[in-house]
Amino acid sequence: MIIARYASLCVEEIGKDRLADRVMEAMARVPRHQFVPIELQELAYADTPLPIGYEKTISQPFMVALMTDLLAVEEHDKVLEIGTGFGYQTAVLGELAEQVFSVEIIEELAREGERRLRATACNNVQLRIGDGSLGWQEHAPFDKIIMTAAPKRIPQRLIEQLKTGGRMVLPAGQEDEQKLVVVEKGDDRQVRTRELIEVRFSPLITSH
Ligand code: SAH
Repeated sequence: MIIARYASLCVEEIGKDRLADRVMEAMARVPRHQFVPIELQELAYADTPLPIGYEKTISQPFMVALMTDLLAVEEHDKVLEIGTGFGYQTAVLGELAEQVFSVEIIEELAREGERRLRATACNNVQLRIGDGSLGWQEHAPFDKIIMTAAPKRIPQRLIEQLKTGGRMVLPAGQEDEQKLVVVEKGDDRQVRTRELIEVRFSPLITSH
């Protein structure tokens, strides 16, 4: 499968030659066509990002698989996602975690995401409209946090809402030089970051 081949091509950058079976199985279970605009249905299973309006895109499947793998989601995890969009990444997380909380700043996209997640019976997902860089304090702390829009710097609030021993995966940096970053909050509360491959995500919208 094409995603597996991609993974083997970036061994050096990501430090592994294949993605976890659990992640690949979750990807196979989520019907991506239900998270794609009707006029692009025939491209739903191509390994490419697709437009969803508002200059946003549904991420390329390989990127969703890679970020999910790097997040190392476990069965009992509580996960926070920033940038629901149409909800595809959210649905993949829902397959792997116990609870998923997802925040989207554009109201119309949040409603569309909600409709699509309900239609695919993702019942362990809660959504909120708002600025995700502020996190979701009522449900913090989280085992894992994933951002699908790129901040210039890692939002401090999100680091605060990460459990010790927790992990966060995000694209970060200026628009034309973003890196995929893995953040780990050690048991000593020290924060360590690792930069992996170059990526291109839409920038995080900030409300403050
Ligand atoms: N997760 C989606 C990707 C959506 S693109 C998928 O699986 O396809 C990134 C999304 O982040 C967009 O919908 C955008 O509106 C949203 N976004 C941008 N800034 C945000 C912010 N500050 N808080 C929450 N969502 C944000």
